[in-house]
Amino acid sequence: MKQKIVAYKALPDDVTAYLREHAEVEFVDGNNAEALAAALKDADGAIGASVKVTPAMLDGTRIKALSTISVGFDQFDVADLTRRGIVLAHTPDVLTESTADTVFSLILASARRVVELVDWVKAGHWKGSIGAPQFGVDVQGKTLGIVGLGRIGGAVARRAALGFNMNVLYTNRSPNETAEREYGARRVELDTLLAESDFVCLQVPLTDATRHMIGAEQFRKMKKSAILINASRGATVDEPALIAALEAGTIHGAGLDVFDQEPIDPASPLLRMPNVVALPHIGSATHETRHAMARNAAENLVGALAGTLRNNIVNREVLAR
Ligand code: NAP
Repeated sequence: MKQKIVAYKALPDDVTAYLREHAEVEFVDGNNAEALAAALKDADGAIGASVKVTPAMLDGTRIKALSTISVGFDQFDVADLTRRGIVLAHTPDVLTESTADTVFSLILASARRVVELVDWVKAGHWKGSIGAPQFGVDVQGKTLGIVGLGRIGGAVARRAALGFNMNVLYTNRSPNETAEREYGARRVELDTLLAESDFVCLQVPLTDATRHMIGAEQFRKMKKSAILINASRGATVDEPALIAALEAGTIHGAGLDVFDQEPIDPASPLLRMPNVVALPHIGSATHETRHAMARNAAENLVGALAGTLRNNIVNREVLAR
């Protein structure tokens, strides 16, 4: 009998066809938790993204593998999956460069006020040569502090050091020797990074240790001219504290791809601030990269169900059983 896979996100046609070569595939609306739980009841595996898959949804199922179309896996209780012997696969690497491009878009757009000034031109305010009220700040030659210099942080560091002649500081629990050797990145304590950086860029995974790691106390340690860039997960930053810091001028601005609540409430004060660039979580969202991620996640799932997957596994301990 063919195995059954639940897809809780739309997939490209060729990826669906690939999955159907290996299993029966049932599509379900990932935003409907009840429908997802019902579909999982007689499934062997599932593929999707941006939806919480809770332990309760897995009770009484025979699920052997879950495959998320993302590198982040904060939507899962990994310890619970491991206890159940369920493999969790993710898609590192394929999205690294596109996400680093998004980070750099935020850095440039925030520093040079691109979005604000586009709106200003479109509103008909450009009536003569521009002056200091329209000036931004330089990016090249400045100091970039990367909180979490891993795959994506490394690709951001490369752009910064080799393309923009920036000094790169970073915090990690362990050193990133490649970034130190090739991009001159310097590992420092978080307080030093906050005090010395012109741009503070978060690229840590969301975990118990990183939730709200940047809050009121950290904003006070940053330069008044500093710009916060967050393309990790909304909850790594204490959002009300960020709003307060921006309103009080404790820091200069923010470039944000992620928020506490997504989609963001249209009434959020962040959306009224000209010094905030807000994107709808587009980190990896290019046609090419989203296709590669879906393909990668599908291959991960087929491999995990066949017991042959060795890479891209979040909870490798399951294999040792
Ligand atoms: P990664 O290679 O695992 O890098 C994460 C880095 O964070 C590592 O260098 C890690 O170093 C560091 N880190 C982890 N916990 C830390 C802690 N408690 N304190 C300080 N540093 C810590 O992951 P990645 O592929 O670069 O992805 C990073 C994150 O970006 C993902 O988890 C995801 O949430 C987010 N992301 C967002 C988008 C988007 O659309 N905006 C797209 C892709 C990814 P140590 O282990 O040495 O501490």
